[in-house]
Amino acid sequence: MQEILKDIDKFGNERPWRDKKLANLTYAEYLRVLAFKKAYNVKECGNVLTFRKMAEKGSQGQLKLYQTWFCHGRLCPMCNWRRRIKQSGELKQILSEAVKREPKGRFIFLTLTEKNADSEDLKQALRDMTKAFTKLMNYKKVKQNLLGYVRSTEITVNDERGDYHQHMHAILFVKANYFNNAYIPQKEWVKLYQRARKLDYAPSVRVEVIKPNKEKGKNSLVASAYETAKYQVKDSDVITGETERDLKVVEVLENALKGTRAIAFGGILKGIRHELGFDSKKKEDDLINADGNSAEETVEEVVAKWDSVRKNYFWV
Ligand SMILES: [Zn+2]
Repeated sequence: MQEILKDIDKFGNERPWRDKKLANLTYAEYLRVLAFKKAYNVKECGNVLTFRKMAEKGSQGQLKLYQTWFCHGRLCPMCNWRRRIKQSGELKQILSEAVKREPKGRFIFLTLTEKNADSEDLKQALRDMTKAFTKLMNYKKVKQNLLGYVRSTEITVNDERGDYHQHMHAILFVKANYFNNAYIPQKEWVKLYQRARKLDYAPSVRVEVIKPNKEKGKNSLVASAYETAKYQVKDSDVITGETERDLKVVEVLENALKGTRAIAFGGILKGIRHELGFDSKKKEDDLINADGNSAEETVEEVVAKWDSVRKNYFWV
């Protein structure tokens, strides 16, 4: 009898291959019903997984994904899981390099929120929001102390109202001077963003100072990095099991997200990202080595395949 795939990470947690594959299949089915051409490709995402077994002590027997085919779909639960691991890992490296170069620099975490958008306005709202962010970063008051930034967009679905809540998270890396004589209070951030976004109401802006010495938890750099680099849309907002509702959401989000960037960098954070090679096409598309390249020696290759009848991965 064939054995089921078990892939345990270094913290002892099982990697969610099966759950992600099941969600991927639901997503692919929605795309098929909606007559998206990529439905067939999405369905093939991560079907055959080739792993290498690590040899070194400490992670003995641990698996490292070596080869597979990912569909890169924007809403694909499988790809989004890999993307999240990859982006937060890279972001942590970029931020720690930035601290090395500008040890006096400080981090601020911004959340910019506006009124929800209806399905037909979402695409335009996302575009306007990112434009407004660039404008905001270029206001003299902000720019004079800005070393770099990373921003991401997130969308949640409001089922009660049937609309979408689009908002932005950003980590700003600023000169120490910002806290001395060029401090921007929260109320002023609201005004600046209102102007940049050309709104006739005051948007909600949350400003938090990231505590440089805090290892984890609220206001730590790690937590802010995770918040910025996570999913653009939560799986559970796309797949609820209510087919009619989900179909509508998939259709709206597929169209709204097309051609947009989930995460973008500016200033020295952009420079460091480039130096580390994270912005090359090859690296950007690499969801296989999402958790980085391992220097550890590997002893053997093992292959697991998705079985569509038994709905699980089995070792070949
Ligand atoms: Zn995928």
